[in-house]
This record gives sequence, C-alpha cells and structure tokens, in this order.
Amino acid sequence: MQGTVQGVGFRPYVYRLARDEQLGGWVRNDERGVVLEVEGAPAAVERFLDRLAREAPPLAAVERVRSRTLACLGEREFAIVESSGDGPAAAPVAPDAAPCAACLAELRDPDDRRFRYPFINCTDCGPRFTIVRGVPYDRARTTMAAFALCAACRAEYEDPLDRRFHAEPNACPECGPRARLLDRDGAPAAEQAAGTDAAAAAAAALLAGLVVAVKGVGGYQLACRADGAAAVLALRARKHREDKPFALMVAGLDAALALVELGPEEERSLHGRERPIVIARRRRDAAVAEAVAPGKPELGVMLPSTPLHHLLLADAGVTLVMTSGNLSDEPIAFEDTEALKRLASIADRFLVHDRPIETRVDDSVLRGPLVLRRSRGLVPASIELRAAERPLLACGAELKSTFCLAKGGRAWVGHHVGDLKNWETLRSYRAGIEHFERLFAVAPERVAHDLHPDYLSTAYALEREHVEWVAVQHHHAHLAACLAEHGESGPAVGAIYDGAGLGSDGTVWGGELLVGGVAAVREPWRMARAWLHALGDQDGAVPAALAGAVTQVRWDAVGALVRSGTAAPQTTSAGRLFDAIAALCGIRAAINYEGQAAAELEAACDPDERGAYPLPVLDAAVILLDARATVAAVVEDLAQGAAVGTVAARFHGALADATARACAVAAGRGGLDTVVLSGGAFQNRVPLERTSEQLTAAGLRVLVPRRLPPNDGGIAFGQAAVAAAGGAASTT
Ligand SMILES: [Zn+2]
Ligand SMILES: [Zn+2]
Ligand SMILES: [Zn+2]
Repeated sequence: MQGTVQGVGFRPYVYRLARDEQLGGWVRNDERGVVLEVEGAPAAVERFLDRLAREAPPLAAVERVRSRTLACLGEREFAIVESSGDGPAAAPVAPDAAPCAACLAELRDPDDRRFRYPFINCTDCGPRFTIVRGVPYDRARTTMAAFALCAACRAEYEDPLDRRFHAEPNACPECGPRARLLDRDGAPAAEQAAGTDAAAAAAAALLAGLVVAVKGVGGYQLACRADGAAAVLALRARKHREDKPFALMVAGLDAALALVELGPEEERSLHGRERPIVIARRRRDAAVAEAVAPGKPELGVMLPSTPLHHLLLADAGVTLVMTSGNLSDEPIAFEDTEALKRLASIADRFLVHDRPIETRVDDSVLRGPLVLRRSRGLVPASIELRAAERPLLACGAELKSTFCLAKGGRAWVGHHVGDLKNWETLRSYRAGIEHFERLFAVAPERVAHDLHPDYLSTAYALEREHVEWVAVQHHHAHLAACLAEHGESGPAVGAIYDGAGLGSDGTVWGGELLVGGVAAVREPWRMARAWLHALGDQDGAVPAALAGAVTQVRWDAVGALVRSGTAAPQTTSAGRLFDAIAALCGIRAAINYEGQAAAELEAACDPDERGAYPLPVLDAAVILLDARATVAAVVEDLAQGAAVGTVAARFHGALADATARACAVAAGRGGLDTVVLSGGAFQNRVPLERTSEQLTAAGLRVLVPRRLPPNDGGIAFGQAAVAAAGGAASTT
C-alpha cells in the first residue's frame, strides 16, 4: 500500500479493521509504505479489502493498493509489527492538520481532562510537518521531545485501540505545552489574571482593540478585531503594509458565509483540515472595516487551524484579522525570543507557548480551484512524478520561491519561502532544502535551475558539488509543471502570462515588444509612458488619469530614457502590459506589492461588459500579439470618457480573444489539441475564466494548475519535471 500512510495512524486503523472482521495477520511500515497480511473467512477478507482504502484515517492518502493471495498460516491473532526494513520511509511526514471533530468535542467538554487545552490532538489531527526534526517520525525527533508523557497520556499512546495510539504530539495539561499571554516586554500580561487562561485573556485584549501576536502552528500571526477601523489601521501602520489585503479568521462556516459568497468547492476548501485562506467574493454587507481589504471585491477568509485558534475565536466572538507575523517583506517570525523582538513595535500582546516550531510555514492561500500559495496544511504531501527515477533537486525561481526534491517517481515540493533577495528568507530556503533532503532521503544527482543567471536560486544551484545541472527556461518550467501535475508529458500549447521570465523563445506568448526599465515593476506608469512612445507619442503630456501621480518632469525623463533605449531592456511580459493599462486607467501609477496593478484592473472590470478591444495576432514564424492597437483603443476610449470598468473589461476581453486565436494557430500548426494556461497573470479570475471559455469554444482542451500555483510557486516542480524527462544536462 503506497501514499501518505505513515505517521497518520494507519497501522492501528488496520489493526482495528482486522479485528472488526475477525481476521488474523500483521501490519508493518516499510520503505515504500505499509505492508500487511490477513487471513480468515474469504467473505471477511473481501470486506476487509473493500473497506481498507475507503475507511482510511483522515490524514492518510492511499494512492495504490496491491494485493495477492498467499497460503494460509492458521494465524488467528492480528499484530502490529515494528518495521523491519532499515531503508528510509517514502512518506514519513504528513502535513499539519486542523483539530478533528472528536478532539473539538473534548476541547469543549467541561468534564474532559483536556477541556480548553490548546494543544489537544490525536492520530487524526494536530501538528506534523512543523514539529518534525528528523526521521523516522517519532516523538524523540519532534519538538515534543522535551515533554515526557504522563501516565494517562502514555496509556493512550500505547493502546492500539485508542485514538491516540502512537500520536507523537500527544499531550495534556499535566504533561504538555502551555500557553501564556505576555505584554511586549515579555512579562505576564495584565489580562491574564488568576482564573483566566491565556486564550481567554488574549480574547479580552483583542476585544479591547489591541493587536495580539499569536503563535500559530507554522509561525506567528498578528490578530486584531476586524470590525474596528482603529485597530485595523493601527496594525497597517505598524506593519508598514499600505493596502495589501489582510486575511480574516472566523469561528465557523456560518460566520464565513456572512462575509463572502462561497461555492460548494470553496466551502469544502475552507472546511478542509488543511485550513487555507480562501479568497472569495465579498458580500456587500460584510461587517468588516474598510481597511481590511481597501477597494477589493474579495476577502480572504479562514477557519481556526489549531485548538488555540478555536478557543480564541470562540472567546472573542468576533471576526479577527489574522495576518502573517512580520514587517512587510520579511519572513514570518517563528522563534519566541526573535518574535518578541521583531514584533515588539507591532503587537501589544503576545499569545505564546513552549512547543517550538521546527519549520516555519505561512498560511496557504486558495482562490476558487487555484492554489496561490502552497504551504501550511498542504506541505509536504508528495506529488507523483513518474519520470523522476534518479534523485534530483529543482531550485525554483526567485520571488515566490519554493524548491522541489524528487526520486523514485515521487516529488516533494517545499513550502512557500518567499523573496530570496531577503537574507533571512535565503537562509530559510537553504535550511529547507537540507531538511527535505534528510526527511525524504534524497541525495540529488541532478540539480535543475532557472536560466536566469542572476536569480539567487540559480546561484545556489551552481554551488552544489558533484551534480549535473539542468537549466530550464522559465516559461517552459511553468508549462511543464502544469502538464506533469496532470500526469501528462505533452506536447501542448502553453500560454504563459507572467510578470517576469527570462527569454521568450518562440513559445506562444511572445507578446509584443514592450519597453521598460527595471523600475517598471514598481511603477507601472513607466510602462504606460513606454507604450505611448511605441504609439508614436514622442513628447506628450502626462495623461489626465495620471496627472495627480506623476509630474511632467518625471514623465519626460522616462520618455527620454525610452527614446534613448538605455535602461530599457526589451520585455515580452504580459504582467507589464497589465501594469500599463492599469496606469492609463488611473487605477494605479505605483504598486506596493507584486501583481497589485493586474489585480486591481481585474477588480475594476464591469461584469456586464462583454466587448473586446482589437489585439491582432501576427501569424509569423513566431506568433506575436501586437498590443499597440489595444493600447491605442484604451487611450481613445478613456479620452472619450468611457468608464474605467468598461475599459478594464474590454482589455481583458481582448486578451482572452487574442490568446484563444493565437493558441488555435499554434495548435493547428503542431497538430495539438491541448492548451496550458499558467503564469502569474492567471491567478486572477477574469483572465483565466474568459480565456478558458474562448479556448473551449474553439474546441481545445484546457489544462490549468490545480495542486501547484500558477505563479512562480510552481516553477520548481516544473523544473523537476523537465530535468526528470531528460532535459539537457551540463557538468563542469
Ligand atoms: Zn483529533
Ligand atoms: Zn499527559
Ligand atoms: Zn513565472
């Protein structure tokens, strides 16, 4: 039996199932998964096999069951046998999981010995990946090592019929970790008077309008009540986060439904034990301060991910902002002394505990069917990558960094690490790779990296010794990632719309010549200037929509740079085109976070407008989208006073139409029927939906990323897929 079947209570489950069917035999872990033998009445054996995968424990993911018939040994008893193999396990660590229903019932039961105990867990739930220090997975190799089990907990741990049999993080108020509420000097907080526990005290502080740093499963989060403008604005100012939306945490599904509109799939995601942030359309009457997500038609919502969060939300009785515990652009804090120091200027109180976090992970983020950030709750679940027989490492991109290790047909994509240009993030990235190499016993022989020589991930790859290197073009990696996660190898047409990406080598998205400097990433108005230049507007004045944001002097200065061609490398990036249109519409002249202009342009779309601007597809040796006519039409519409919502919608329409036409041309040339849509620009709902519709209408099959992000978080897996498929290697 293969899949995630170790450290998830699988052997005791098999034990109970075998006893239930009155079968004899044994079960044990081995290097590839779980092996077992049963014997008894043929009908009972059949029922056992039928139930085995179907009724598996919640954290298990059974991918393959193989069985064969053996001679009977006359075995009546069933036993759990220690692993015999000394090889490393293939799936030793499960992702962290939210409290199960049975644990929640105990948490709320005044007669239970774990009533209001913030670290309650069992084999079906609790921390896993974030507390693991090494393999094999047992308590001594987790951050629970320092807590000795009390007699009651030990009895549960040793009883195969107990829900906590071999639950490594098992704990109770007698023997386990404890929570405390501190003020910013590290002293016990005033709210935690005698008779009040830490969660209740933190809830009181939150209700009083304070900002509380909460130690979650993967790191610190910052919380404040979401209905109070003063608290939310204070958090924004202290965190130096101007307008990037804050995520919200609500007590349950009903509270979530009062804030956002959820389809059945989104509801399942929200409720899943992974507990991601789910970004969904906000309800008009959502009772949260405007400063939570200024000007956004969507809100990011999540349910409590730990018993501590459950207590906090129940006690506070209001929706909370729950955002990552960092100053903007830094990685989240996860060590206690460091957190107290780094977050002292942001948080008024600290809800801490003494169970260390081994690996820092951010909250995962989903939008509709897409994973935008794959981290807590999703990592380190493995993904099948059949071609990857030999051990390999893929180093990813740079901005939304992840790494990927693979061998024996499986790949493990690391958690979201972030922007490697931050020193602390780079350190975390290196440590993460080493940790995964140990956990999954992968000693890479091949190392894949981006073609971009300046990426810090590329520099890391080239540091590795005694390996073969495989350089993978960025957009090729996006395409390969999507194909490989669907178990396909192509060929397919790839429409990869991205913010960055070195070299466009004749793939469908050649785009058109865009001109802009490095600074254009932060200041979309520069792209607008460059586009107007391309249209022949040599010495124009600042457009009305940008008049408040850009002075004539700066406008002219960039115009001069563009004309001279200095500091203006060619780029074929779709992201930059979105930036230019957003700037022309006056939506955003400068951005505060990556992808902001494109997201706000999407948000501005009038949903009833189905028109589209011209966007010619040049069917030459390389298929090009010539966006000059599009930009000209945008400028003309705006000059005639068209609403921004109309312009934004027509621009998205143009892109969808043109993409479908370009893909149809490419598919026709190559005799292909499949199109992959990926890249950062497809994180947004409107481009993805409208383009998919057009392609489907044109009779093409559309593949989009499902388990991995369409943004650069998916790059490492794509590089791994290319390297595994035998991409050209080099050694020096
Ligand atoms: Zn549980
Ligand atoms: Zn105990
Ligand atoms: Zn990319």
